[in-house]
Amino acid sequence: MSAPYSWLEDALTTIHRADWYRSVQPIQGRAGAVVQMNGQPVINFASNDYLGLAGDDRLMQAAIAAVQEFGTGSTGSRLVSGHRDLHDQLERAIAALKQTEAALVFSSGYLANLGTVSALVGKRDLILSDQYNHSSLKQGAILSGGTVLDYPHGDVAQVRQLLEQHRDRYRRCLLITDSVFSMDGDLCPLPALLDLAETFDAMLLVDEAHATGVLGATGAGCVEHFGCTGRAIVQVGTLSKALGSLGGYVAGSATLIDYLRNRAAGFIYTTGLSPADTAAALAAVAIVQQESDRRRQLWQNVTTLKQALSQQFGGNTDLKIQLLPSESPILCLQVASPAIVLRLGKQLCQSGIFAPAIRPPTVPTSRLRLTLMATHTSKHIEQFVIALNQLARKTQSGDFQ
Ligand SMILES: *Cc1c(COP(=O)(O)O)cnc(C)c1O
Repeated sequence: MSAPYSWLEDALTTIHRADWYRSVQPIQGRAGAVVQMNGQPVINFASNDYLGLAGDDRLMQAAIAAVQEFGTGSTGSRLVSGHRDLHDQLERAIAALKQTEAALVFSSGYLANLGTVSALVGKRDLILSDQYNHSSLKQGAILSGGTVLDYPHGDVAQVRQLLEQHRDRYRRCLLITDSVFSMDGDLCPLPALLDLAETFDAMLLVDEAHATGVLGATGAGCVEHFGCTGRAIVQVGTLSKALGSLGGYVAGSATLIDYLRNRAAGFIYTTGLSPADTAAALAAVAIVQQESDRRRQLWQNVTTLKQALSQQFGGNTDLKIQLLPSESPILCLQVASPAIVLRLGKQLCQSGIFAPAIRPPTVPTSRLRLTLMATHTSKHIEQFVIALNQLARKTQSGDFQ
C-alpha cells in the first residue's frame, strides 16, 4: 500500500527537533498597544501597527461606511468588474504621499512584490538582491526567471563589484532591497545603491513596508528620509503595517504604473482590494499626513527603549543577550539559540509582555524582535525593561542557558 503523504509526519518531526516548529497564537480584543492573550492583558511589542491605526475609530468608521455603501467583496479583478472610484482615490493619495506620478494598489504587499519584480524582469535579465531581503522579494526574483545574485547584507562595494563583473551580459538589471530590514531594523544604503543603479543603467526597487508612515518628515518612507524623493525608484510597500489596513502598493512613474497594470500577474489575476480595506487605508494615509505628532511620539518611544536597552545589552557585555543595531522602531535582542529565545518569549509573556521569538529559517540567528508603537506609553516601556532585567539576571546566574 502506498502512503504518499507519510513524509509529512517525518518533516514535522524534523522541524520539532530543530526547535523550528511554529504554531499560531490567538490574541483577543481590539488591535492596540495592549491586547489580550489567554484572557490576560499583555503589552504588545509584536505588531507592525507602528502608528496605532489598526484600532483607530476613524479607520474603523471608514471601513464600516464603505461596507454599507459598497458591500463586502470587490467581486472581480480590478481590470474586469472589481475597480471602484475608491481604489483611484487611494492610489492618488499614495502617489501624493510618495510624491510620485502614480501608484497602483495590490491585494497585499506580498503580491505587490511578486507581481512587480516578475513583471520588470525576464530570463535575459539580472537581479541583485540583498541577502536579508523579505521573502516576497526573493520569491518574486525566482518567479521572474532572471539570474539572481544575492549580495552580502548592505554591502555596497559588493554590489558595485557584481555590477562591474556581470551587468554587461544581461539586457536589464534590477536591484532589489528592503528599505527598513524587517527582521533587523537597519536601513539599506539607499543613496549609494541609487548612484550605482544610475551608473550601471539598472532599475532600483525598494520595499518600504516598514518605512511608510514611519520614516521621513512627512512619513513618505526611507526615500524621503534619505532625500531621494523624485528620483527614479520603484517603491513598493504595504497598507497593512503603519497604515493599519490590508493590501500593498507600488508607487513610481506613470509609465511604470501603466505597464504594471498591463503586465503584473499579481494585479491582473486576483480580486481587487475589498472596499473596507481600501477605505481604511485611505483614512490612514490622511492621518499619516495630518498627524505628524504620532510619528514624533513613535520615535520618542524608540529613543527611550533603545537607551534603556543599550545600557544593559549594548556593546561588550557578558550577558547572553545582545541588542542589534537598528535605525527604526524594530529593535532586536539576539540570543544564542532557538530554545533560549523561545523560553525568553514565554517568560516575558508570563510577565505580561508580548515580544515574539524569531528563529531560523526566518533569520540566521535567534532573536527577540520588538516593535514600538506611537501608542505605547512610557509605563509600557518601563514595564518591559523591568521584566527583561529580571530575566537577564537569571541568565547571568546560570539558570537561563
Ligand atoms: C510585511 C512585508 C511585506 C508583505 O506585506 P503584506 O501586505 O503583509 O503582504 C513585504 N515586504 C516586507 C519587507 C514586509 O515586511
